[in-house]
Amino acid sequence: MPAASETGDPLLLTPGPLTTSKTVKTAMLHDWGSRDATFIRMNAEMLERIAALAGGADTHAAVPVQGSGTFAVEAMLTNFVPPGGKVLILVNGSYGKRAVKICQYAKRAYAALETPEDTPPDVGRVAAALAADPAISHVFAVQCETTSGILNPVAEIGAAVAKAGRRFLLDAMSAFGALPLDARQTRFDAMAASSNKCLEGVPGIGYVVCRTDALEETKGNATSLSLDLHEQWTVMTATKQWRFTPPLQVIAALHRAIEEHAAEGGVAGRGARYATNCKILVEGMRALGFETLLPDRLQAPIIVTFHMPRDPRFNFQNFYDSLKERGYVIYPGKLTVAESFRIGCIGRLSADHMRGALEAIRAVLSEMGVTDCGPRRAA
Ligand SMILES: *Cc1c(COP(=O)(O)O)cnc(C)c1O
Repeated sequence: MPAASETGDPLLLTPGPLTTSKTVKTAMLHDWGSRDATFIRMNAEMLERIAALAGGADTHAAVPVQGSGTFAVEAMLTNFVPPGGKVLILVNGSYGKRAVKICQYAKRAYAALETPEDTPPDVGRVAAALAADPAISHVFAVQCETTSGILNPVAEIGAAVAKAGRRFLLDAMSAFGALPLDARQTRFDAMAASSNKCLEGVPGIGYVVCRTDALEETKGNATSLSLDLHEQWTVMTATKQWRFTPPLQVIAALHRAIEEHAAEGGVAGRGARYATNCKILVEGMRALGFETLLPDRLQAPIIVTFHMPRDPRFNFQNFYDSLKERGYVIYPGKLTVAESFRIGCIGRLSADHMRGALEAIRAVLSEMGVTDCGPRRAA
């Protein structure tokens, strides 16, 4: 029998969408009117708890937008970088590149500081770039660049940004809820994340945790009506309502998911489960001869990139399809530095699921007659 989630679906070992608990999904089995008191309470609690999880209970507000995570990143960049501002974008993967594209669409001035996908930004170079260009008002960084799974040093970058008197914006999408980020330690104007990554809700909501003092300054900056965070926040504060049809079932699921997150021990508990998943995965894959793209010190316990094996009998499509038949969905790589594939550790996945995935990988390799899983290109 193939492995399956609590609802009988294949397990998603991917960067998202992710496997969710049955209880999170069943939280959606209702209709609510947007003025329903239960819905209004769930929505307010959800937003308060998200701000608190970021260490911003007293200083920050979580402002939601309908859509995937990119909607929140776009809302954050276009609202917080004013028309006369300029943002330094730290790029080491496709989410950094997406931020560049957002600025191009919105005609916001930017500079990109790029490092290869297996290399974190250098904090000294960030400081030097800020010293060299006084026009830079903001710095944008990705906490875990899901393209490779690399952990970027956002606390150190944030300290350099604060020291230079600039504003810090974060894409914490694939890290928030599992890796520490605390507004009381790392000063940021805004941080974007979504419902279906480490909080394990269903997809459909992006949110930006905004320092309210900075959010107040953004009035009039928005480049689109539906992504106007200042307006969304102002209306929601006054009326408790979303401006446009709220994704009620997604909100109910995220509200429930945040309760399950707290029951697991919050960020520390969730992060510990993912770290265990990651350790089992990496050790098991190395035992089979695979090589990770990243050294352990740069690897976030979110998603792991493996070099494509050099054995000529290895065929990725067959590998993928056979694992899917056994109940495990993995993910292709999208690196420029090496041929690769990815296996995720996040979502409703346990240590047993990871061991089961390794068992399935061993069986599929044996079926394919693959014996040499070393990398195609020297690491
Ligand atoms: C998932 C993710 C996003 C958002 O992607 P969507 O497909 O729009 O949900 C943004 N940044 C990072 C780092 C991510 O992992």
